[in-house]
Amino acid sequence: MAKKELKPLQLVCDLAPTLAQRVFQIREMRNLTVKDLAALSRFSISRIEDIESGVETWLSATDRQLLARALSVEPLILLEVESRRLDNASDAEKLKVQEQLAEKILKGLREESCPNCGGSLKCSVENGLDLDGRVQEYAKAFCLKCPFVLRA
Ligand SMILES: [Zn+2]
Repeated sequence: MAKKELKPLQLVCDLAPTLAQRVFQIREMRNLTVKDLAALSRFSISRIEDIESGVETWLSATDRQLLARALSVEPLILLEVESRRLDNASDAEKLKVQEQLAEKILKGLREESCPNCGGSLKCSVENGLDLDGRVQEYAKAFCLKCPFVLRA
């Protein structure tokens, strides 16, 4: 595919308010097909379709970089309309996310995307005493971007 001439994005005063609409909008402005965007971002075509139809509402830091680069915009342009997954989650869902994350961290995972915003999580394992005085490992994590914290 020939490199297309890119127009400055300032002509866009009205960027769409959701990730789905905004990706679609910028892609159209760039005169790219879904297939073009998939090739540029190295996402699958179905993934681009999922994003544009609102199935995926937030991106990991790495994916956001890739997609933003493919669209020739700053990652912030996408980040600001991603919906925070945990905002509308029930307490049970939040607890489940926390438990799954804790399990992964205890298995050795140290780099993970924040389940809330997709930013970088700082993960660690700390030793503590349980109620019976036995040494136990606790998973800890906090997000560098949003207030998400994992407290075991
Ligand atoms: Zn976060």
